[in-house]
Amino acid sequence: MLKLYNFLSRKIEDFKSFENSQGKPTDNVVGLYTCGPTVYDYVHIGNWRTFVFGDILRRVLEFNGFKVKYVMNITDIDDKIIAAARSRGLGFREIAAKYEKGFFQDLQKLNIKRADHYPRATENIDSMIKLILRLLDKGFAYKADDGVYFSVGKFKNYGKLSGLSKAGLKKGARINADLYDKENWSDFALWKFPSTSLRTSPQPSSNPGLEPSWEAPFGKGRPGWHIECSAMSMKYLSGEPFGSELRAELHGRTIDLHTGGVDLLFPHHENEIAQSEAATGKKFVNFWLEGEHLLVEGEKMAKSLGNIFTLSDISKKGFEPLALRYLFLTAHYRSKLNFTWKSLEAVQNALFNLRSEVASWDEPKIGCAGYENDFKEAINNDLDIPKALAIMWETVKSDYPTSARHQSVLVMDRVLGLGLEKLERAELPKGAKELIEKREELRKGGNFKESDKLRKELQKMGVYVEDTPQGPKWKVKKGEVLDKLEQ
Ligand code: AMP
Ligand code: ZN
Repeated sequence: MLKLYNFLSRKIEDFKSFENSQGKPTDNVVGLYTCGPTVYDYVHIGNWRTFVFGDILRRVLEFNGFKVKYVMNITDIDDKIIAAARSRGLGFREIAAKYEKGFFQDLQKLNIKRADHYPRATENIDSMIKLILRLLDKGFAYKADDGVYFSVGKFKNYGKLSGLSKAGLKKGARINADLYDKENWSDFALWKFPSTSLRTSPQPSSNPGLEPSWEAPFGKGRPGWHIECSAMSMKYLSGEPFGSELRAELHGRTIDLHTGGVDLLFPHHENEIAQSEAATGKKFVNFWLEGEHLLVEGEKMAKSLGNIFTLSDISKKGFEPLALRYLFLTAHYRSKLNFTWKSLEAVQNALFNLRSEVASWDEPKIGCAGYENDFKEAINNDLDIPKALAIMWETVKSDYPTSARHQSVLVMDRVLGLGLEKLERAELPKGAKELIEKREELRKGGNFKESDKLRKELQKMGVYVEDTPQGPKWKVKKGEVLDKLEQ
């Protein structure tokens, strides 16, 4: 049984799909939503930790036989994108398109499985408008002179995810910016009218930094950040209140899982719950999972500290993106992870080692059930990936035939995603097999001087022999993999 820590109850719970939890027949379809990137700059390694966490969750659900419908939004309009466009003299769409492209390229390098949908905010404005109209209609939203706001005091369950109390609510306080007060409640913008400076002295339309806006019955403007996740997650995963584009079996259902980085817990996720549940009268999401942050050399990532690294910074230093993925696997998602260049070097070597082992193994056949069971137990224990990784290494180092280890390690890599299925098997060069056998004979006869000569001869051919209680094991020097190991 898969167990997950649900931030809503602050407890470990058995995971059940929505239908299962209702006692209804199920085909094991589950909906998973992750808050995606704001494409105003290259995605940094902290963001990648959260997105790899989403990918691991998806893979664990699939490992357990669930059919996952995965949705991740692309925030392609917000304050930061407009500011980036203005400062660089570009249009907001150019900025968004550039960094969205970078996001998808890096996603592939990290072996993150693609989601079913990556809806862009600007392509779903209609859904957001419908949702805001419903909130206005039900009295949860009101119009002010700079935008339409959600009235948090009207939603009685406000604070149920973050646990922040109503005492913090400053009467009449409103927040319009996309950067929010992390401690206090305030009414938040669902829709923003063009800023006053632009309304009073509009920039020429040729100015690419002009704040974009869309027509709406409550006034021309642009959406706030929170509303996009409510509208798009419900559009693609629950059918409420839109319905039209949904698969029948998901219609009207509560979304199974929602993830993001822990900084989104309040107010972003809290606000998503408020908007969605106020509009539909139904529970929005069953399981909330929030991933802890990545630190860099013990510090919070910040522009002022110059410690915001991207995947291309990793590559420039000669590391593989997959080494970063491996590093993420070494910490539990609810613990902080400290990134250091030294730790990246260590896991890069571990990855080389792993590959050179697997590449020398026989074709996969029947696996080692015991290790596979232990692995499943670890991943199902609230995604204990560090333990699962250790079990994978135990399997690698075990005495089972290489064909069995190969089979089990590939099964485990369906969750870990280190790309082992793409490894080619290393073939022995011509004549090497005979030399290995001859060397073993010499060794058994106590002729170590001659057997050592053959070891060196084999090394010249790129074959490395290691003597084990089970007999000689060999590895073939495969290009970069072993070259780097030797440095
Ligand atoms: P953003 O593009 O800023 O909306 O962030 C995208 C995702 O990355 C969100 O889920 C954030 O919570 C997450 N995130 C931001 N900084 C970090 C960090 N240092 N470590 C882990 N996740 C992060
Ligand atoms: Zn979101």
